[in-house]
Amino acid sequence: METVNAATKVWTRDAAIAEKRDLWTAMKRGFRGRCPRCGEGKLFRAFLKVDGNCSVCGLDYTPHRADDLPAYLVIVIVGHMLVPAILWIETVYAPPVALQLSIYLPFTLIASLLLLQPVKGAVVGTQWALRMHGFDEQNPEP
Ligand SMILES: [Zn+2]
Repeated sequence: METVNAATKVWTRDAAIAEKRDLWTAMKRGFRGRCPRCGEGKLFRAFLKVDGNCSVCGLDYTPHRADDLPAYLVIVIVGHMLVPAILWIETVYAPPVALQLSIYLPFTLIASLLLLQPVKGAVVGTQWALRMHGFDEQNPEP
């Protein structure tokens, strides 16, 4: 006897004509702090607090699950900017440690704070474009 799994996705005409979501466009819009669907409404209501929904198109932002990914990505990005520069400066100029720390530590802090919101927006845009979590209206599961 054959059983039918209700959770299995079956191609239907309705699923095929679902809204097209371009990943790069959604990431760019999220990076700019805008709604990944319309690009107009604000994505954040505070520094890292994602708003409830888009004020222009009404997209529900609550299904996003950015969690710690933006922080990990910022660490990777800032680390890849800073470490080669530190190694090059140390090799070529060998400045005093106090001078290096007085430059590298504020740079790390400022660069991290500047990147955190845009990276989180890009992560939310990615999740929306890939229909992750609750961003897929076709998904029968809540
Ligand atoms: Zn919108």
